[in-house]
Amino acid sequence: MSDCIFCKIVVGDIRADVVYSDDQVVAFRDINPQAPVHVLVVPRRHMESIFDLEEGDGDLLWAVFRAIREVAEREGIAERGVRVVTNVREEAGQSVFHLHFHVLGGRRMAWPPG
Ligand code: 5GP
Ligand code: ZN
Repeated sequence: MSDCIFCKIVVGDIRADVVYSDDQVVAFRDINPQAPVHVLVVPRRHMESIFDLEEGDGDLLWAVFRAIREVAEREGIAERGVRVVTNVREEAGQSVFHLHFHVLGGRRMAWPPG
């Protein structure tokens, strides 16, 4: 998608603080962090949200969740606790329409979320 911010980050056209990448996934720090650790894990392939996932995307999902754990371990929050969030569509708070998982940690989280 030519006008997608995260596609541009994935290919390096927009700079980001990348903490992990592999052939399927890139993870970088959120520009407006909501916790001491706030990393976004995104598939390299553009899709709008989890609602665009298909039956054959099992390998991609494994890569995403493997990356989430790797990021949590590298950031030193895996043992304490991690919140993983994906917002789907506008009312849920989605503002960038390229699938991404927020990986948050380093402070106690409240429930219910705002
Ligand atoms: P959403 O609101 O779609 O769930 O999450 C989008 C996230 O992307 C927000 O937390 C926002 O701060 C972050 N974000 C938006 N634009 C950029 C950017 O250009 N670079 C980085 N690193 N994060 C961004
Ligand atoms: Zn995109």
